[in-house]
Amino acid sequence: MAGTKRSDLSAAQLAERSGIPGGTIARLERGRPARTDIIIRLADALVLAPSELTESTELDPLTDEIYRQCKSCLAVRPLRGFLPLKGTPYVYLRCRPCRARRARERYHADPQERAAQIRRAQRNRLKRRQAVA
Ligand SMILES: [Zn+2]
Repeated sequence: MAGTKRSDLSAAQLAERSGIPGGTIARLERGRPARTDIIIRLADALVLAPSELTESTELDPLTDEIYRQCKSCLAVRPLRGFLPLKGTPYVYLRCRPCRARRARERYHADPQERAAQIRRAQRNRLKRRQAVA
């Protein structure tokens, strides 16, 4: 089974999130065939389209999800894998993991961007505190 490497999840996290035993996942990763419902549950836990795991698109219509391809990593993911564009029905072109990776890279590469991200985080923390109070 291909594609599981695209996730930042560890094998243990994937087992916990999908509810599929780690031993089963390990066997699939070594190329053993998988049942349809197992593939769909794994894809759901990985926030990927089932076709990302099987290299065939026949399982994708069996889910209720709408899929988009990330402009950056080219993974096909359900809409919840993308950040909504506020005030529009659209989502960002890059998936959440790609956006997070780029933000991390900018944070480490650019001192100004780092200062801006820290200020933003402080502002958001303050807002959350005020919302609780
Ligand atoms: Zn991506």
